[in-house]
This record gives sequence, C-alpha cells and structure tokens, in this order.
Amino acid sequence: MSTRTPLIQRSQELFERAQTVIPGGVNSPVRAFKAVGGTPRFIARAEGARLWDADGNELIDYLGSWGPMILGHKHPKVQAALRAALEEGTSYGAPTEREVRLAELVLQAYPSCDMVRFVSSGTEATMSALRLARGYTGRDRIVKFRGNYHGHADGLLVQAGSGLLTAGGGSARSAPSSAGVPQAFAELTLVADYNDPESLEALFASQGPEIAAVIFEPVVGNAGVLIPTPEFLEALQGLTRAHGALLIADEVMTGFRLAPGGAVERLGLEPDLVCWGKIIGGGLPVGAYGGKREIMEQVAPSGPVYQAGTLSGNPIAMAAGIATLEALAEHPPYAQLEAYGQALQTGLEEIARSAGVPATLNRAGSMITLFFREGPVQTYAEAVGSDTEAFKRFFHGLLEQGIYWPPSQFEAAFFSAAHGEAELKATLEAAEAALRNLA
Ligand code: PLP
Repeated sequence: MSTRTPLIQRSQELFERAQTVIPGGVNSPVRAFKAVGGTPRFIARAEGARLWDADGNELIDYLGSWGPMILGHKHPKVQAALRAALEEGTSYGAPTEREVRLAELVLQAYPSCDMVRFVSSGTEATMSALRLARGYTGRDRIVKFRGNYHGHADGLLVQAGSGLLTAGGGSARSAPSSAGVPQAFAELTLVADYNDPESLEALFASQGPEIAAVIFEPVVGNAGVLIPTPEFLEALQGLTRAHGALLIADEVMTGFRLAPGGAVERLGLEPDLVCWGKIIGGGLPVGAYGGKREIMEQVAPSGPVYQAGTLSGNPIAMAAGIATLEALAEHPPYAQLEAYGQALQTGLEEIARSAGVPATLNRAGSMITLFFREGPVQTYAEAVGSDTEAFKRFFHGLLEQGIYWPPSQFEAAFFSAAHGEAELKATLEAAEAALRNLA
C-alpha cells in the first residue's frame, strides 16, 4: 500500500460537478467530509473489505456503507440472489413469497416479535414505529436520547446525533436539530440523557401519562460508539413498563450486527417494538419494524394506524436481505468479528498510548470508535468533549495510507467478515503513522 499522497483528480472533478447539481455534492450529508475537510472519494467499485475510488486508489473499508455490509462487498451468495431476482422482474406492487421469507428470517432471530412490516429505510421504520406506538397507546409524546439518531423524520430531528452533531444543530432541550422542523413537532419529543437514568425518571415523573414510547439506540453508533450501562437499561425497561409506555429498540445499526438477534439478544432486552434497516437489506434499501401481534395488528389494513409504500417489500431488495440473513445463519461471523475487533482495539489502544495521544476506544463487536480524549466516554456530553481537530488529522492520515475510516468523530467504524489479517496489519501500520504524527 502506497504511503505517498494519492492522486484524487477524478474524485475532485466529480465533486465539483456534483456540487452544481446536488446540494453539497452528496445525497447524505456526512459523505461530504464537512467535519474533516478535503475531497470525498467517489467510489467506483468494491469487493470484500476493499473499495476502489474513481482514480483507482484501493481503500480498506471501515464504512461498510454505514452498516449494511457485514459480509463484505459482493458476497457471492448475495450477488447470485440478486442476479436470480433480476431475471424475474423488478417491482410488482403486489405481495411476493420473498417478503414472507424475509419476515420469517427476521422473526426467527427475534423471538420476542410476532410480526414485522417492511419499509424502504431506517427512517421510515422508526417514523412508522412511533406512529404505531401513538396509535396503540393513545398518547402523543415520545422520549428520545440526546445524541441518538433515528433517521430524519421531523419528530426525531430533536437533539439528534450522526451528521447533525457536525452540522451545528440546536442545543436547548426539545429544540429541532434542523431548520424546517416545526417547534410544535419538536415539543412532542422529550429529550433525556443516555446512560443517565435520573434524566429519564424526571421526564416520567412530570409527564408519564402522556408518553407513548421511548426510542433508543441499544448500543449508540451515532455519537460515536457508546455502551449502555446495566442501570440505564434497567431504568428504561422498568420506567416504560411502570408507566404504560412502549419501549422501542432502534436496531437499524445493531440488528444482526452485534449478534443474530442484535443488541436485544446480546443485552437481554425486552422491547415492545424493534426497528431494523441496513443489514436486513443486504446493501439495498430496506427497513422494518416489528413487535407483538397485539400491537402490530393495529397497522393498516388490519388496524387503524396507516402506513404504506410503493416499493415496500421490493423483490430485489428482499432477495439481497434473504441472502444476507441466510449467509449469516449458515456461517455466523460473530466470533471472527469479535476477534478482529479485539485485535484492532488492542492495537489502536497500544499505539495511542505509546504515541502519547489521549484517546479512548469504545467498541461493541464490529462497531468501533476511537475518541480523542481521556476516558471514560459513556455519555453524549463526554463524546462531544473529544478533540475533533486531532480526529481530523487522524482521519486524513489514515485516508492517505488507504484506510477509509468514517469522516466524523461522531460515527462508528464498521468492519466485516471479509476483513482479515492483511487488513488488520495495514490498518495498524497506518494508524501508527497517523497517531505518531499527532503527538
Ligand atoms: N436509526 C439508526 C440507529 C441509524 O443509525 C440510522 C441511520 O444511520 C437510521 C435509524 C436511519 O436509517 P436510514 O438512513 O436508512 O433512513
């Protein structure tokens, strides 16, 4: 792998062209490198753990398309399923067998859920789950946590994480994180602090009878990785139950990544509703929400809570999802991902320590964040106290050496079953150079 500054002329040309026709030159904000500066790489193709940009530079991928690519790129089983599905047609607007099969696979992994409804993105999944929770409970308010991100629906862009953390969102409680979100919508969203049971208790004490649901990231990826404390999870479970509010686990990022049954399985949670996305679509646009029959039967056409989609359950997307979940079941990669993660973690911690760079590494399975500050980092406030200038230099140091880390301090890096010894060695060598440069 070259350590010379790579040529990125084609990416530069494409970025200039893109900026004249697409806001910011990208179709999702974090891709624009706003937080780190510089030119985003335009990607031409991918295979396994690697990407190739438009100038032909080879990159070891720690984005994994922001989560879906747990098997690596162009997994043979997923490619074959996509080819077979394409031969049959692309979209019918009528039910297909593949929807039933993917529903069965998702539910097998989540025994606490009886039914699931497919949509086309994680945003649609969380938005629809909240409508369902409101319809089911007859209450209007919801609770989310500061720095958690659940997609871009109006009521969820309140104190939100991910790209909003670098875009300069609002700071007061229940303040919108985006222009265009009416204050009246934001006021129905109450905000508590992650890993702070008292802040949740206080909201239930003052407004318990009005709270339809609490939505949360069971392991946070969107403020960088934050691990929930057992006390926090206990409070979530206990307070929602005691007050008749639904608990919604947003497993869009963690579902099928941290374990076959996601964080719900790994942490022994008992949510009323679960949201999925990313991995269940195998790299195509799919989201889903599910739960107990009694709640899910409130969804149209069996119940009064309306939700629909022209491309929901799209056969091509279902094929990629089925192939991905079947491959995960046939050859579970979780032990291998844990071993890679442990080696990457130990290596990065050791390099940072010997380079004298203050850093804290948070990891859950194949999700990892190196925060540039002394630890522990358990809360949103602690995460945002990181040295983002140091992160920027680390990020560019890695990228110049062919390692594509997420372009923000406040995102999780993802690795896949296709990451092996060669990727680990190259990543640690690049990190050593990048971190020594910081000290
Ligand atoms: N929920 C979580 C936890 C996410 O990480 C994301 C996206 O990153 C979403 C919801 C939104 O999903 P999508 O981008 O598919 O709309």
